[in-house]
Amino acid sequence: VHSSSPSLVRRRLTGWGRTSPALCDVLPAHSPAEIADALASAPERGVLPRGLGRSYGDLAQNGGGVVIDMTTLGGIVDLDADRGIVTARAGCSLARLLDAIVPAGWFLPVTPGTRDVTVGGAIACDIHGKNHHRDGALGQHVVSLTLLDTRGEMHTLSREATPAEFDATVGGLGLTGVVLDATLRLLPIETTTMRVDVERTNDIEDTFARLTATDHLYRYSVAWIDGRARGRRLGRSILLRGDHAGLSELPAAERSDPLAAGRGRTLAVPSWASVSPLLRGAAGDAFNELYFRRAREGRGLLEPLGPYFYPLDALQDWNRLYGRAGFLQYQFAVPFGCEREVVEILRLVSELRPVLGVLKRFGEESGPLSFPLPGWTLALDIALPVARLGPVLDRADEIVAQAGGRVYLAKDVRLREAAFAAMYPRLDEWRRTQARLDPDGRMRGDLARRLRVTERQAT
Ligand SMILES: Cc1cc2nc3c(=O)[nH]c(=O)nc-3n(C[C@H](O)[C@H](O)[C@H](O)COP(=O)(O)OP(=O)(O)OC[C@H]3O[C@@H](n4cnc5c(N)ncnc54)[C@H](O)[C@@H]3O)c2cc1C
Repeated sequence: VHSSSPSLVRRRLTGWGRTSPALCDVLPAHSPAEIADALASAPERGVLPRGLGRSYGDLAQNGGGVVIDMTTLGGIVDLDADRGIVTARAGCSLARLLDAIVPAGWFLPVTPGTRDVTVGGAIACDIHGKNHHRDGALGQHVVSLTLLDTRGEMHTLSREATPAEFDATVGGLGLTGVVLDATLRLLPIETTTMRVDVERTNDIEDTFARLTATDHLYRYSVAWIDGRARGRRLGRSILLRGDHAGLSELPAAERSDPLAAGRGRTLAVPSWASVSPLLRGAAGDAFNELYFRRAREGRGLLEPLGPYFYPLDALQDWNRLYGRAGFLQYQFAVPFGCEREVVEILRLVSELRPVLGVLKRFGEESGPLSFPLPGWTLALDIALPVARLGPVLDRADEIVAQAGGRVYLAKDVRLREAAFAAMYPRLDEWRRTQARLDPDGRMRGDLARRLRVTERQAT
């Protein structure tokens, strides 16, 4: 089936960090046939699918080329509420998925810090959550997915039947073709309440020690690091660790409706906020200080699921708080044993005055372009513009690469090609599979061009 000539709309796209805008011809996807047409008639600059644009940098844009907006092809295809298996179209947001699965007693096996991402975008980045040390990345929970390649062929991919194609597509940055739908294995929950332990640590050594000693006791674990703290307080953190509360843990009055969603009201950032950078300089210091003082330490605190997993979703378009120049997030992972390198980078990057950072321990590694590796990951938000950004982060990249670590491409907008190739040693393996699925090299995008991700011969 061929659609009539598709309606492309020229739009200026950026990632969540609002840097590096690109003019792209955007096609709202309405059917697989339309997508197949767009892939078949890709222009010189190629074609790339896009979800909700929550990757921070230039990953989901394709300047001068075509971008397929997958959010118009959403919805849930099937929910087996007895077995906890859901099939959703790639453009379905996690928010929509949660609305359907939570009342039935199920939760996402892996969730990022926002529900405003699509199933396809989450798979293309093989996203990780606060439970990576225990449950791995999202790909571990994908039963199967449907991929449409650039020759118009539809593939049902699974780890068991088609391991190479599956592993190349999960974490494959949208460059192996377009994911049309996916089937996920869900996590059973009895309530929408979380049981959380909150602890404050004094410095980075204290943070490392406590996470290492007791992380295995928690399904979810994360440390919020004060990115502005220096000297003796460098790396002081708030540990937020917990699990889903069971029915018997709820106060009696709440037991009759334990799966009440309670999404809470969404607040919008006023338009003036975008010209009034609220999170920079002294205001950022004040925000951090407030955050650290406010944290209530305690064990077994009961908290609704929404604010626990998605504290920032209550504030729509919060990225505008960083002002017109936007912001970037530097997220890297290094193997266990490289704690010294984490400290060195934290010290280096503190010059860029990051606001809050997130430190956590990762578990097992997955596909060739998947980001997590057994070790530490640290993510730091940096408001732009800032002096010495390039030299500081280039040096951080060197430290990461030498330690056998990597930078997360879903957050990246500035990594260099050589550093990228050093950080992802299984790149050639990925390229071989990608070339089979896209022999004419039609899948392209700004990040892929910048890092020469799909170059056929590695140098
Ligand atoms: C507040 C916030 C918190 C976050 N927390 C986390 C976190 O905890 N862990 C984590 O791992 N990430 C996190 N992220 C990053 C986010 O989960 C990823 O960037 C995710 O890919 C965004 O999904 P999206 O639908 O917005 O995709 P987009 O940003 O639109 O696209 C991302 C990639 O997916 C590809 N893609 C999109 N749809 C398809 C499709 N149908 N088929 C094939 N490829 C496709 C695109 O080509 C692109 O390469 C966070 C982001 C924000 C803004």
